[in-house]
Amino acid sequence: MELTNSEYTIQGVPVTQIVEQFQTPVYVYDADKIIQQIKTLRDSFSGVNLRIKYAMKSLSNLSILKLVKEYGVDLDCVSIQEVLLGVEAGFPKERILFTPNSVSFDEIKEAVSLGVVINIDNIAVLEHFGDVYGNTVPCAIRINPHITAGGNAKIQVGHIGSKFGVSIFQMSHVKKVVESHNINVVGLHMHSGSDILDSEVFLMAANVMFDCAKDFPNLQFIDMGSGFKVAYKEDDIVTNIPELGKKMSAAFKEFCKNYGRDLELWFEPGKYLVSESGHLLTKVNVLKHSPAAVFAGVDSGLNHLIRPMMYDAYHHIINVSNPSAPKRVYDVVGYICETDTFGYDRKISEIKVGDILSIQNAGAYSYSMASNYNSRFRPAEVLVFNGQPHLIRERETLQDLIRGQVDIFSEVEIKTSEETTTSEK
Ligand SMILES: *Cc1c(COP(=O)(O)O)cnc(C)c1O
Repeated sequence: MELTNSEYTIQGVPVTQIVEQFQTPVYVYDADKIIQQIKTLRDSFSGVNLRIKYAMKSLSNLSILKLVKEYGVDLDCVSIQEVLLGVEAGFPKERILFTPNSVSFDEIKEAVSLGVVINIDNIAVLEHFGDVYGNTVPCAIRINPHITAGGNAKIQVGHIGSKFGVSIFQMSHVKKVVESHNINVVGLHMHSGSDILDSEVFLMAANVMFDCAKDFPNLQFIDMGSGFKVAYKEDDIVTNIPELGKKMSAAFKEFCKNYGRDLELWFEPGKYLVSESGHLLTKVNVLKHSPAAVFAGVDSGLNHLIRPMMYDAYHHIINVSNPSAPKRVYDVVGYICETDTFGYDRKISEIKVGDILSIQNAGAYSYSMASNYNSRFRPAEVLVFNGQPHLIRERETLQDLIRGQVDIFSEVEIKTSEETTTSEK
């Protein structure tokens, strides 16, 4: 989103025009921003065989999937349903990685039958996999290197108490299982959590992975997961991708030389690819002056964007309708009957009822975590592509809330006891 001549635009399209066309609340994604992120990542890892596996749980709209597919990006899926959506979007099976956690073995079997790459994160499951498939189906192993990183306790997944991955301290056990079951391990994977700041942390983790790799002679790839941080606030420190790329590429080349073959280096960015592309556009329904704050109440809430409430995530908020007005301080709140504050004590250009507020960084874990709480409809989604806004998901309707519900009382009679019956014959 750009501010030119006191007007916010996306690829030259005024944001207010998008709102007129599609109403609020609406999620708007800038395709150019996603493409730019893909390019930066690619350019930063020149000289190595890089594969980008988009973590589609961050934003799973089919048009977004098709967009990244056309730019040569593959998929990382965490449920069989995501795998099926990836197939629906046209990804070839070998470009889909399935990284499940705590799923039933039936789900893994289904993924194997679809032909996608399976990533296993549990020794018992690995044994089961070996019993069933032997060396006929290749797999990857998710390792937990126990490197603690991540912006919030709920998104730290690499520490010793985490449920994810096979502990690095259990690698000799893994090796025994692999050898005894003749399992074809083609990849080693790690993902130590979202929001890693420091490229040194990645390098530390990479060295742990490279060390493990020596015990697996059939590897085709090392998957370093994700956790790339993007700026939520203006002066936020972000993962320096070009610097990381340079250091990691050098380390990886050295590793490949020692390993004796050129492997692929995989990353699984979600947030990095789509977070900044997204904006949740909302309309101010009410202003409310209380002794403690001025509330701007918008036509959205934790049902559409739960990150501020669930992770204390900061999302920058701007007044699209009135960008050059003097700034005042507001609490921006939602319309859900539950505390759903998008931002406390925010300096925002003076707000009037009916103004459009944009909640920024709403590409990742935003629509994909939306719900129907309070029986509200989920918003529409719009993709601005080649200078044109396109509707990529319709706003829900009452039919969506009713669909699938079975109204048994259209058939079954309710008999209440006489004392509680109010209608007398
Ligand atoms: C969530 C997840 C990612 C993406 O993390 P981001 O912080 O959004 O980049 C990558 N890999 C796996 C296995 C994940 O679960």
